[in-house]
Amino acid sequence: SLFSASDDKPRILLMGLRRSGKSSIQKLLCSCVFHKMSPNETLFLESTNKISKDDISSSSFVNFQIWDFPGQMDFFDPTFDSEMIFKGTGALIFVTDAQDDYVEALGRLHLTVSRAYKVNPDINFEVFIHKVDGLSDDHKIETQRDILQRANDDLADASLERVHLSFYLTSIYDHSIFESFSKVVQKLIPQLPTLENLLNIFISHSGIEKAFLFDVVSKVYITTDSSPVDRQSYELCCDMIDVVIDFSCIYGLTDAGSGCAYDKESLAIIRLNNTTVLYLKEVTKFLALICILREESFERKAIHEVFEVDTSTQGAVWRPVSSSGSNLSGLKYA
Ligand code: GDP
Repeated sequence: SLFSASDDKPRILLMGLRRSGKSSIQKLLCSCVFHKMSPNETLFLESTNKISKDDISSSSFVNFQIWDFPGQMDFFDPTFDSEMIFKGTGALIFVTDAQDDYVEALGRLHLTVSRAYKVNPDINFEVFIHKVDGLSDDHKIETQRDILQRANDDLADASLERVHLSFYLTSIYDHSIFESFSKVVQKLIPQLPTLENLLNIFISHSGIEKAFLFDVVSKVYITTDSSPVDRQSYELCCDMIDVVIDFSCIYGLTDAGSGCAYDKESLAIIRLNNTTVLYLKEVTKFLALICILREESFERKAIHEVFEVDTSTQGAVWRPVSSSGSNLSGLKYA
């Protein structure tokens, strides 16, 4: 089941030259939500000069492990076990610094990809063209074109043109890391089409404009309906998660500090002054459904009557009731 915590989920590797931004990305993704929940734990503060294996699966739906390699990671060192590292890997994210000369990074990317592909041809190769906040829009496009061209040329020269690389423009100063990471994670979820379809059915029967299923800790969205995602909606949802968790931490926990900032009771409605309503509801221990809708639709029918979430069963069951009255109960998306 998609929702069982013990799932053997694929590993995501984060690699790249020293100073490319890996640990900054890692800290952002294993966000402060986690630290807010357990302030005594300092999980990701290790320096990057040895391989560190971080696993936030116990707190997050997204069971990704981040292996942070030193920039000088040496494939020719006999102690470097590429079999072991690449075998169980679902996606390899290679981070390149767009503000720096990337010739060396491209050489390293090529070496890494060809090595990993040999061990495991099923890996998704994802290239984060990172730190693009310092670049003008034209410069961004030009850099992406240039990196894509060179990386693919290198692959073609090595007769590896069947290897597919995906490219993302990222920066830690906006939400692009979360968006890009969401896309990387979504490719690894085999149930994605089913989930997307269920969200499509859900919104088409409820007057909701956009629905996301979020992993609360990483703020990665697992699925959304098939209407296009605009950055502003995504950012609103991320901000809502922050607000809800912060608020729960301040007012929701007992004096002794017990309790959890996110649990079965978690539900929040935020009305914005532009007639938009945001609705967040717990779905599982890790996941939240966040909907964006117009105030009129919200008034027309209280949204909590639109669907009922039964979390008492293993996996959750949504019971959306259509506006025409037909009942879609028993929709199981686990
Ligand atoms: P690592 O060695 O790959 O782990 O790199 P770090 O995460 O330590 O980052 C190296 C430097 O790049 C630090 O000074 C970061 O603040 C900076 N950095 C990381 N991400 C970004 C980004 O998106 N934009 C900019 N401008 N700087 C960044």
